[in-house]
Amino acid sequence: MSAIAGNLQAVLARIAAASKAAGRLPESVHLLAVSKTWPAACVREAAAAGQRAFGENYAQEALAKVMATADLGLEWHFIGPLQSNKSRPVAEHFAWVHSIDRLKLAERLSAQRPAGLPPLQVCVQVNVSGEASKSGCHPDETMALCQAVSALPGLCLRGLMAIPEPADDEAAQRAPFRRLRELYDQLRAAGLPLDTLSMGMSHDLEAAVAEGATIVRIGTALFGERTYA
Ligand SMILES: *Cc1c(COP(=O)(O)O)cnc(C)c1O
Repeated sequence: MSAIAGNLQAVLARIAAASKAAGRLPESVHLLAVSKTWPAACVREAAAAGQRAFGENYAQEALAKVMATADLGLEWHFIGPLQSNKSRPVAEHFAWVHSIDRLKLAERLSAQRPAGLPPLQVCVQVNVSGEASKSGCHPDETMALCQAVSALPGLCLRGLMAIPEPADDEAAQRAPFRRLRELYDQLRAAGLPLDTLSMGMSHDLEAAVAEGATIVRIGTALFGERTYA
């Protein structure tokens, strides 16, 4: 078994254990393999081991990998900050965008989504940690942004995403995930048909699953430590 295949088994086992501990079905938590900085060969290795959904942060790097693996029919998710003037290739080549943080970006993606493709599946990213430097909309603005996004014809609003600050103990990890889930519950109660909570990374997937994550975005635990050129 390749290293990546072994890591994939280990991550799936963590998801299964965390789901069981939370009284949830393991199938209710989907694994997004975050392949940023790793070459297309690593994506192929994970795909050969059964992984279908991959996440990328940088538009240019991502597009090269999407093209290089087009024969595999994988599902690509854009999860990084996105400048409005770089939105077109993302609208054309991705199935999902998790990082919608402003209406202008959503409007561009909607207008640029090719008519022959299904709507782009999107999550609104919320800043649940409160630092001014972090991306994501303010929790108080989430309802209005979600309502506006849900009206755009080229998009299908699926839920919320967050990247909380790293925390050491599980209680501190769970607090921002709980805030995101509470916001999600409020939006659903207001009538938005959401089904996705994109939260949890390599170091905090257990806390995220305990608070209701339906997509965990895992890079390091699958592919190893990243080095940035
Ligand atoms: C890099 C990244 C991940 C994966 O993080 P790991 O700690 O390597 O699992 C998940 N989500 C986003 C938005 C990322 O940028």
